[in-house]
Amino acid sequence: MGLKQMKEKENIGIDYFRIIAAILVITIHTSPLLSVNETADFILTRILARSAVPFFFMATGFFLFPQNNLKPFKYNKSVLKIVKLYGIAILLYLPLNFYAGYFADKAVPIKILKDILFDGTFYHLWYFPAVILGIGVIVFLIKHCRFHIVGFITVILYLIGLFGDSYYGVIAHIPFLKAFYDILFLFSDYTRNGLFFAPLYLFMGIWLSTHRRRYSFKIKMVGFLLSLALMMAEGLLLHHFSIQRHDSMYIALIPCMYFLFQLLLFCKGKSNKNLRTISMLIFIIHPWCIVLIRGFAKIIKAQSILIDNSIIHFIAVTFLSIIVAVILNKLWNKLKMPSFQEDRAWVEINLSNLHHNVVQLKNILPKGCEIMAVVKANAYGHGDVRIASELQKSDVNAFAVASLSEGIHLRKNGIKGTILILGYTCPQEAAKLVRYHLTQTIIDYNYAVALNQYGKKIKTHIKIDTGMNRLGENFNHIDEIAGMFHLPNLIIDGMYTHLSSSDSMLNDDINFTIQQIENFYSVVNKINVLGYYPPKIHIQSTYGVLNYPELNCSYARIGVAIYGLLSNETDQTEVKIDLHPVLSIKARVSIVKNISSNQPVGYGRKFISDSPMKIATVAIGYADGIPRNITCGSVLIKGEKVPIIGNICMDQLTIDVTNIPEVCQGDIVTIIGQDCGEIISGEQAARQAGTITNELFSRLGERLERVYIFN
Ligand SMILES: *Cc1c(COP(=O)(O)O)cnc(C)c1O
Repeated sequence: MGLKQMKEKENIGIDYFRIIAAILVITIHTSPLLSVNETADFILTRILARSAVPFFFMATGFFLFPQNNLKPFKYNKSVLKIVKLYGIAILLYLPLNFYAGYFADKAVPIKILKDILFDGTFYHLWYFPAVILGIGVIVFLIKHCRFHIVGFITVILYLIGLFGDSYYGVIAHIPFLKAFYDILFLFSDYTRNGLFFAPLYLFMGIWLSTHRRRYSFKIKMVGFLLSLALMMAEGLLLHHFSIQRHDSMYIALIPCMYFLFQLLLFCKGKSNKNLRTISMLIFIIHPWCIVLIRGFAKIIKAQSILIDNSIIHFIAVTFLSIIVAVILNKLWNKLKMPSFQEDRAWVEINLSNLHHNVVQLKNILPKGCEIMAVVKANAYGHGDVRIASELQKSDVNAFAVASLSEGIHLRKNGIKGTILILGYTCPQEAAKLVRYHLTQTIIDYNYAVALNQYGKKIKTHIKIDTGMNRLGENFNHIDEIAGMFHLPNLIIDGMYTHLSSSDSMLNDDINFTIQQIENFYSVVNKINVLGYYPPKIHIQSTYGVLNYPELNCSYARIGVAIYGLLSNETDQTEVKIDLHPVLSIKARVSIVKNISSNQPVGYGRKFISDSPMKIATVAIGYADGIPRNITCGSVLIKGEKVPIIGNICMDQLTIDVTNIPEVCQGDIVTIIGQDCGEIISGEQAARQAGTITNELFSRLGERLERVYIFN
């Protein structure tokens, strides 16, 4: 899981800003411009730098849930991590607490409780209880309210917070309000806490992760600069009239953060875990660094430079904090063992290639014809929810699945638009079709009658059997087909057929396909004459599009090509497009061995060495979907193609690495995909297994983790 979540994200802009935000927090605690100009320092540390903590809240919210999906609450792990970090930070600052006389006070137990729950036991540590409580509030609200209501409640909480913070002066002379806030301050020294401050920004982070807005860079930049200017005006005015009790919360901070975060999302690139860790470390340790720099200055009697000059003081603290953070991060990385178990074998899904294929396919489709992405069988092994939600970003709004449960699975995970079930759904399940807004294929007249009996409106597409003799009402049965339009409970949204031989370039097959197409259009025409106009008409799947591109339909039901594949290596097509394979299969070497000549390898002693050789066992097998009948198969390791030897086992296979001396345990082996210049294509692997890519990929094991990457 860890690997997957890490690789899924590609928002390097957010990671860069984490470092900036951590440094902004240092400015708050060192006031760099104080010895230059007080107002300038106020603008920097009490206004601009106030973006830092809301940014951290938003980043937390942004990564709290899997994208496009609020259902499976995976927040437990992240919260536990924050709690642990908070615990460590509390311990880290105990010596300074002691030194400052923290425990000398009488009411210590109550104070400690209050600090741990709200204010933090050291001045910067309030962030941790705030984010923990904030997540608690958000998760509670999301479980119990509609999403926009959650947003509304967080805004109200923020408003309450504002009047205890920057706007306190406004209510301070209204007795009952003042009394209310006085009670609040008994529990928490400030309102910039986990109840009034964090929830809104956490929510904004979640919101941006689930609802991508498509405004241009320019609009966002203008929005950001405008709200920044507004915030400066707001802060200076409030300061001027001495309205602030504290200066963490502003009204203009909300749009400011909204636009800033969106701008950061423009900066794409593989996210960097080191930046994340280092920024968090800088945040945690910088008060210690302030103490150390001050102590050091006293020892070497350089107070006038290192302390009194606020700029130099700030630079020294920042420098020390970064150095210590980088060193700690290095140590931590060294300590952590690579997690082999998790990386036994996996599937890498390149989403940039998915988007590329969509663009290529859209280019060849006639105007008005949309892609209906076929995501049956777990999107041919690629992971249906992630693929569908990624396709939605490429403006694909129709999907086809094989079964009711596949359709429900997509809906439950937030996939919108049309979802057509290509197969048979038992009429007793009609309620689920309605509940999940699924579109059902009518497979013949009797089935239409049975579905109609459910009594509620059901969206359907009629399937016409034009010669494949699989599902569909026979194209000659015009009365039956017309009869379906009389059934009051069926919303007939489309009509389609499926071609059985559109992949073939043989004359016979081409004639047969043309006949199928004619049969279908004759049905459409006859139905039109009777006054029925099914809105959506579709015929082609991948090969239909590539070999019969001129057909003018509402949809093309494209499966295998979206994943960057053809079914067979040798297939020729009328239209040639540049497809990029989306999926690669990788596994690790679990052991390397030297064997002498005449040694058998694996079950049945199918392979016998004829000279001394070096072999490696790879942790992937037929239970993961690598067909056992692959003969003369090969894999890539260290950019070289090497043969698979012996029988493929359930969980492992063996390769010959005699010619690659540097191979060792943990090395990555590419079963399908690219390694340096070498490639093993899905089509090649399918040929070696005596099948087509469609079968090979749809049978990939559930045991393989799907790791999503971008170029
Ligand atoms: C699977 C399927 C498709 C997709 O076929 P590809 O060749 O993968 O594009 C289209 N239509 C129907 C009815 C299917 O069953």
